[in-house]
Amino acid sequence: MTQHFIVIGNPIAHSKSPEIHTLFAAQTGIEISYQRQYCPDDAASFTAVIEAFFQGGGVGANVTVPFKQIAYDCCAARGGLSEHAKVAGAVNTLLLNKTRLQSGVPLIGALYGDNTDGQGLVNHMLSLGWPLKDARIALIGAGGAARGVILPLIEAGIASLTLANRTLNKATALVDELRAASPVIHEQQIETCRTAELDGQFDIIINATSIGLSADTLPLSDNLNGHYAYDMMYGRELPFLQHFSARGAQTSDGYGMLIGQAALSFERWTGHAIDVVQATKTLHSR
Ligand code: NAP
Repeated sequence: MTQHFIVIGNPIAHSKSPEIHTLFAAQTGIEISYQRQYCPDDAASFTAVIEAFFQGGGVGANVTVPFKQIAYDCCAARGGLSEHAKVAGAVNTLLLNKTRLQSGVPLIGALYGDNTDGQGLVNHMLSLGWPLKDARIALIGAGGAARGVILPLIEAGIASLTLANRTLNKATALVDELRAASPVIHEQQIETCRTAELDGQFDIIINATSIGLSADTLPLSDNLNGHYAYDMMYGRELPFLQHFSARGAQTSDGYGMLIGQAALSFERWTGHAIDVVQATKTLHSR
């Protein structure tokens, strides 16, 4: 029987998720339909779309910009949240909690939200052979993407984290908020600084800013070096990666993170594990 999935966003036409999940379905031998779902940019429309989708027998939904926080609010108010979603303050994966459904709650009350973005990044780095255990990490950016990766990075056993941002008080406020939300983060030494003041030697430097969408470049210190550099953006020339590649670092864009987060969503929904390395090779060759 065909299982139905959607990705909800606005805009949504550019989403690569249907291609990725269709490949996963072929790899695991299950029959799925995975559609892009446009939704007007307001909470009431989002809730109505989600309710109609699950009422109609839908199995799982991915949530993308600008609805990740709205999905979080929806699950926090009515359903349940994974630890990663709670700490990220954002949901990218929706499913129904079958136990709650069987106990007779209305459908929307059984909504369960997860966030697989950060673990997708960690899994991608590990698949590249990048050592996260005991690593000194510099993370640039203090928006939603940075927020979502901090707990998974700490769980992967990193030694230290320096969070740099153009607007320093957003970085310090984010650390304060995350420390209050998670005992694991509370225990971790985290330093903050302005992006232009970030310097020294790190094992891995991660760009979690949206600068790749603009013509600007990050103000990077001449004294900033890393063995590895990762940009969460993908699908275009990335000056951040060119900068560190010229200094001898191994680099990667964020396409593998996208595939990694999708694989984790697929596994939550279907119980089928994905061979991410194989899937990545196939998708890259297209
Ligand atoms: P966001 O919440 O809007 O945060 C944007 C961040 O970028 C902020 O820290 C902001 O600094 C910084 N920034 C923006 N323009 C800048 C500039 N000109 N100079 C310096 N810093 C600048 O965005 P987000 O949701 O975190 O997304 C960030 C990036 O991650 C996006 O490119 C997105 O595509 C990518 N992403 C990729 C994946 C994946 O699967 N590969 C998943 C999630 C996100 P201020 O605080 O100073 O404004």
